[in-house]
Amino acid sequence: MENLPRSRDYLNRARAVLAGGVTSSIRLAEKPHPLFFTRARGAVLEDADGRQYVDYVCGYGPIILGHADPRVTDAVARTLPDGQVFGGQHPLEIEVAERVRTLVPSMEVMRFSLSGSEAVHAAIRVARAATGRLALVRFDGHYHGWLDGIYTANLRAEEAPAAGQPGSRGQPAEALSHVMVLPWNDAGGLAAAADRLRGRLAGVILEPILCNTGVIPPRAGFIEAIREWCTREGAVLIFDEVITGFRVGAGGAQSLLGVRPDLSVFGKAMANGFPVSAVGGRRELLTAVASGDVLHAGTFNGQVVSMAAARATLDALAADGGAVYGEITATGRAIMEGLRAAAGTLGMRVLLQGPGPVFHLWFTDLPVIDDVRTARATGVREYERFAQAMLRRGVRLIPGGRWYVSAAHTPDHVARTLEAAEEAFREVAAAVPS
Ligand code: PMP
Repeated sequence: MENLPRSRDYLNRARAVLAGGVTSSIRLAEKPHPLFFTRARGAVLEDADGRQYVDYVCGYGPIILGHADPRVTDAVARTLPDGQVFGGQHPLEIEVAERVRTLVPSMEVMRFSLSGSEAVHAAIRVARAATGRLALVRFDGHYHGWLDGIYTANLRAEEAPAAGQPGSRGQPAEALSHVMVLPWNDAGGLAAAADRLRGRLAGVILEPILCNTGVIPPRAGFIEAIREWCTREGAVLIFDEVITGFRVGAGGAQSLLGVRPDLSVFGKAMANGFPVSAVGGRRELLTAVASGDVLHAGTFNGQVVSMAAARATLDALAADGGAVYGEITATGRAIMEGLRAAAGTLGMRVLLQGPGPVFHLWFTDLPVIDDVRTARATGVREYERFAQAMLRRGVRLIPGGRWYVSAAHTPDHVARTLEAAEEAFREVAAAVPS
C-alpha cells in the first residue's frame, strides 16, 4: 500500500539481507507486498507504520487465545531466569505430554519438536519403521510441510492417482519415490491405490479436515474408508492436525469426526504462538523410538519456553470443559453468517465452509466445494481484490481465502470486520462484471 512508508523501507532493507525480504516463502504471496509488523495484542495487529488491523491471519494458525495472552506470556516469563535449554529433560515436558494425552486420547505416547514439518517427518519415519514398508499415500492439496520427503507438486487431473513429483526446484525426485498422491474425497482414487499398493503400504497421511486448499471436510464415509484400508493393510493412519489440533476443538478434528488415527501430528495452536509440535499415537508404534532404534532428535526439543507456553495454553483451552471452543466457534460462525448476508445484500454469492475457528471464503455460486481442483480455481481474482480492500480498511486476511479466529475476537471486532466487508464486497462487485 502506498501509504505504508516504514513497511516499504523495511522491505527494501530486508531484501538486501533476507532472500526476497522474508523468512518464509509463504509470505512472498502477501499483496501488495510483504508488510512488517511490530506489535500484536488480542485480536489486533499493528504494523511498522502504526496502522492497526483486526487480524484473521493469527500467525497462520497458532494464535488461538489471542496475541500475547498474559496467561501464556506470564507463564513463559516466570521460567526465564531459570534457564532455557539443558541438553536434558525438564519436568514441564511431562506435564505438557500428560495434558495432550488427556485432551487427545489417541496420543498415548509422544515426542516434541519445534515445527510441524519436523513432526510430520518423524511421523513418516515412525510409520515406515513400524511397518517395515515404504509406500506412503498423501492427498493433493494437503500441506504437510516443506521437507523433501513429503512436499509434492499439485496433481494434474489426467494422472490421478500418481507418483509424487517435487513441488520445489532442488528437491530430489528420489525423496518422493515411495509417495503416491491421491485426489481428496475421491473414493475411486482410494480403490485404485489400494489395488496398486497391496502389501506395501506403510501409511496414509492427511489433514482430517483439509484446510490448506480451501477448508474442505471429508465427504461422508471417506475418512472411515481410509481408516478401514489402513487397518486391513496393517498400515499407519497419520492425522496431520497441525492446523486443526487445539483449534477446531480441544480434541482436534479426530474428536469431531469420531475417527481414531494411529499417529497424529500437532503444532501451531498448541502453544499460542511459541514454537512447539508433537508427534505421537499408539504406544507400540513408538517402541522403536523409545528404544532409540528410530531416531528423533533436536537440540531445542522440549526447551523450557515452549513447554511453559504449551502448558499454559492447554490449561486455558481445557478450562471449564473446553468452553472457549464454544465461544470461538460461535464467533467464527457469526462472521461466516455476516459475510454471507453482506454479500447477499449486494446480490453477490459467496460460499463459506468450515467449522468456525477456521473457515474459507470463496466467491462462487456453488453451494459446496468438496474437491481440491475446484477449490483452487474458484474466485481467485475476486478474493485477492477483496483481501486488499479489507487490508485498506484495517482487516488483515490470508491471501488465499482461509480465516482464523481466536478467543480474543469480540463482537466489536466482528462488527468492524463486517462493516469493512460490506464495502470490500462492493469494490469487488464493481470491479468484476457478473
Ligand atoms: N502440516 C500442516 C497441516 C500445516 O498447515 C503446516 C504449516 N502450515 C505444516 C504441517 C508445517 O508446519 P510448520 O510450518 O510449523 O513446519
